Amino acid sequence: MLTLKARAKINLALDVLAKRPDGYHEVDMIMQSLELADGIRIEPAAELSVACDHPAVPGDERNLAFRAALLLRESSGITAGARIVIDKKIPVAAGLAGGSSDAAATLLGLNRLWKLEWSEERLAALAVRIGADVPYCLHGGTARATGIGEKLTPLAGPSDCRVLLVTPDVAVPTARIYQSLRLAEIRNHPRVDRLVQRLKWGAVAGIEADWGNVLEEAALPQFPVIAQVKELFGRFGLASLMSGSGPSVFALNPPAEAAAGLLARLPGNWFGCLTRFQAARNEQDASVK
Ligand code: ATP
Repeated sequence: MLTLKARAKINLALDVLAKRPDGYHEVDMIMQSLELADGIRIEPAAELSVACDHPAVPGDERNLAFRAALLLRESSGITAGARIVIDKKIPVAAGLAGGSSDAAATLLGLNRLWKLEWSEERLAALAVRIGADVPYCLHGGTARATGIGEKLTPLAGPSDCRVLLVTPDVAVPTARIYQSLRLAEIRNHPRVDRLVQRLKWGAVAGIEADWGNVLEEAALPQFPVIAQVKELFGRFGLASLMSGSGPSVFALNPPAEAAAGLLARLPGNWFGCLTRFQAARNEQDASVK
């Protein structure tokens, strides 16, 4: 039996540069993985199956982990099965790439269980067919992602940074946010080159001068609760940014008192936690029993 961590990610920058004829968007993003993670357990079995303890996560081929398993089995030509069990800790449809991360961890786990010995590059070529964020999730850590999100440059990131994360109780469909984005009207683009320099120096203080997520402009009018979350961060003196297409919002290195005060004020059906930056995936993220 294999167990793996499937880490959540946040975007320290999310810029959209153009819309391609095939409907995908050209992006320029800085991704950062978090300690917050789903647990993925993979056991040998005759058939392929997936189970998840979260009611909003499907247990069939709509599940990204299951799609990853089917694709890998088909592409490698093997006939073995596996039982994949997801212990959901990452809020669902929250802009934290939970499904993409489950898919990436499944590819890594099955590569071991089925003794395929595929390289990370070969797995990444398969991963992009599942979703644009899945190649990033294979590697994790701090990275710049361009193209549709699949062209990755690993970055030096601060070795330690706390993250206050809040997800209000609303599911945001990523496709709807991208569709409603008016590229020519975007006012505030993140300064991605300057962010790369900041992260290289480990300088998180003042990062809000350069960070940004252009999807905030599209998401906030449609989901006013996201603006409420940002207002709440503001009341505690914290600069905040939406992750992905929302609705999750985060602040970096909050003073302990502000973090505790804000978490105590959250409605019971919202998710909130204090987590931290996670370095790129390593051997400790998987264990064999
Ligand atoms: P992204 O930021 O990559 O758009 P997200 O964090 O906003 O992703 P997910 O949590 O990945 O969103 O879920 C998006 C949708 O995918 C949900 O509606 C959910 O039903 C479906 N889904 C399929 N597989 C999974 C999975 N393993 N975990 C979570 N959601 C999944």
